[in-house]
Amino acid sequence: MKNRTDKYPPDFQRCVDFHGHVCPGLAIGYAAVKAGSRVLNLSASGDEEVVAIVENDSCAVDAVQVLLGCTFGKGNLVFRDWGKQIFTFFDRATGRAVRASFTGAVPGRDERHAIKQRIDAGEATDQEKRRFDELREQSVTALVDSDPRTFFDVREVKIQVPPLARIVTASPCDRCDELTMDSRLVPTGGQLICHGCASKTDTE
Ligand SMILES: [Zn+2]
Ligand SMILES: [Zn+2]
Repeated sequence: MKNRTDKYPPDFQRCVDFHGHVCPGLAIGYAAVKAGSRVLNLSASGDEEVVAIVENDSCAVDAVQVLLGCTFGKGNLVFRDWGKQIFTFFDRATGRAVRASFTGAVPGRDERHAIKQRIDAGEATDQEKRRFDELREQSVTALVDSDPRTFFDVREVKIQVPPLARIVTASPCDRCDELTMDSRLVPTGGQLICHGCASKTDTE
C-alpha cells in the first residue's frame, strides 16, 4: 500500500511516517489511542505523564508511541507479551486509567485473513491479491475515520500506578565482565552473572 499523504488525517500520517508503511495494525493502534483519549483527554506525554500498557508488540504499538509519546526509553511504555490487541492508558495527572480492547469487528476482516492465508501459501490469484489490497485499505479507512468505539470495548479501570523510571545501579557480570543492571544479575553457583551468560549455562 502506498503512503498517500493527502488521504489521512495529519496525526495518522505521522504514525505512518514513523512506522514506514500503512497497515491495518497501525490503524488499530491509532483507533485505540483515540478511544482512550476520548475518556481521559490524553495528549502526547512529554515526561512520563501518560503510561501505556500494551499486550502485544505488533504494528499497533508504533501509533501509541507517536501519538502519546510513550516509549521504552522513558519507561512509560509497558509491554506484556500476552498476544492481545488490548491497550491500557494511564494518566498520572488524574490517576485515571482506561482499557481499550479490540473487538475485531472491522468490515471484511475475515475475508482479508482468508485471502492472506492463500497469499502466504502462494495460491492466491491476481484477482484475490487485488481484493486483498482493497480490503486492507478499507480496514485502514474504517479504523481511522470511524468512531473508535465501533471497534473497541472501552472502560475505565483501576490499575496499580506503574513506578516512574529511576536511575539504576549496575555491576559487572562475574563471568563476561559486562556492566549489567544489578536487578538483572542472576545468582548462579556463587556468582552473580548476566542473563546472556546464564542462558549459555542453560544450554551447556
Ligand atoms: Zn505495519
Ligand atoms: Zn555475563
